[in-house]
Amino acid sequence: MTTVLTPASPLTAADRCDRCGAQAYLRVVLASGGELLFCAHHGRKFEPELKKIAVEIQDESGRLSGTAATADDDER
Ligand SMILES: [Zn+2]
Repeated sequence: MTTVLTPASPLTAADRCDRCGAQAYLRVVLASGGELLFCAHHGRKFEPELKKIAVEIQDESGRLSGTAATADDDER
């Protein structure tokens, strides 16, 4: 899956999911200018809604399939 446009700044371990506090793998830029961060789990859960309101979705969840160094309770 290739949703990544132009990764301005890669997500880091310091970026946390707005819903559960896990490491964020998706950055959602809203039309309003705000930003939301989601882990892979919540990114997938809210993806249909996010696509309606986002102007850009930076998806780095693909990194989970490579080296899963951190806890990933639901990687796909
Ligand atoms: Zn989450």
